[in-house]
Amino acid sequence: MFPCSSCGICCQNISTIKELKEYDLGNGICKYFDRINNKCIIYENRPQVCRIDEMFEEEYNSFFSKKEFYIENAKVCNILQEQYKIDKNYRINIEEI
Ligand code: SF4
Ligand code: SF4
Repeated sequence: MFPCSSCGICCQNISTIKELKEYDLGNGICKYFDRINNKCIIYENRPQVCRIDEMFEEEYNSFFSKKEFYIENAKVCNILQEQYKIDKNYRINIEEI
């Protein structure tokens, strides 16, 4: 399973994700993101684009190994976290993937 650290920053930056156009509050924040508790309120029913493991199986497994796919996703997580000054404890350790 992808080692998501549950920082929540991806759910607050969805404006470029076409599959989530209807979810965007207009400021890039998903309408299903609970900012107080830092979590998705429809987690069990979230769309496929929000499911990294399913996206790998359905769309990317002929292009990347799972490890490569995880690393590329984790790099984006860490860049977003840096950009938004998220606590360093949330960084994904790419060496451990
Ligand atoms: S940005 Fe990455 S680590 Fe943070 S919640 Fe999203 S998938 Fe998880
Ligand atoms: S549906 Fe849930 S997991 Fe997907 S962007 Fe919105 S809050 Fe995040």
